[in-house]
Amino acid sequence: MPHGTCALCRESADLQDGHLIAKGFYKAVREPASVISNPVLVTASTTFQTSEQVSDYLLCRRCELRLAQNGEEWVLRNSPHRNGRFPMREALLRSPIKSTIRAGESYKEPYDSAFDLERLVYFAASVFWRASVHTWDRVKHLMERAPLPLELNEQLRLFLLHLGAFPIDAVLLISVSASKPLPHIIFPQANKRANLTDIIGYDFAVPGLQFRLMYGNIPDLMKQISVAVPPHAVLLTDLVEREIKARRDELRKTSRMVGSLGSAAS
Ligand SMILES: [Zn+2]
Repeated sequence: MPHGTCALCRESADLQDGHLIAKGFYKAVREPASVISNPVLVTASTTFQTSEQVSDYLLCRRCELRLAQNGEEWVLRNSPHRNGRFPMREALLRSPIKSTIRAGESYKEPYDSAFDLERLVYFAASVFWRASVHTWDRVKHLMERAPLPLELNEQLRLFLLHLGAFPIDAVLLISVSASKPLPHIIFPQANKRANLTDIIGYDFAVPGLQFRLMYGNIPDLMKQISVAVPPHAVLLTDLVEREIKARRDELRKTSRMVGSLGSAAS
């Protein structure tokens, strides 16, 4: 166990071998009934099947626990289960305030008591921050660094320590799958929008959920749709699964498709 400076609390400590995306999400994407025994990972350049996980020595034990308890554990428990249940979505559907928009249903606070928006936002921040501040060297072939501006890194760090608010200049969008979640993990990677060149951002996804963080020259109107500011809107949409399928079609030229991602009918 190497000794060093914890990237989150900045104290000198024994550093833990921590995962960028928790092991539990890998379990969720296994398809034991099919030929797929390992998770399907979608990266910027390829889609493949591997049991390799992105982990490294970045945080002290206390901070690893902090990230798990304030976000990851709740998200994992409430993610899609193999039996078809998706507790987080069930709670979202019980929430009373929603409006229909082009992309799906936009839910707003107050949420059902079983829908823990605070932990969901914390989880998103923890993944974007870790993908930004560290180059996960041991797994270069699995992901690239997703660097954010230094000021944003620091604001996210303080937010994760409960010493500051979520950065006001960043927009965080959270989408919950309305259709059957695909068994995939997408590591944080740049999202390119041809018509919005001065807005920069990253996406990542775990089964049933997609997270998008944007910063740059963002219009005020767009800032208002961030899940981090009232009315804390969360989108229920099938856009996520559709985007994955579109990406799959794009990658099909260079990658071997496996599992349900490779099914032409899906
Ligand atoms: Zn620490």
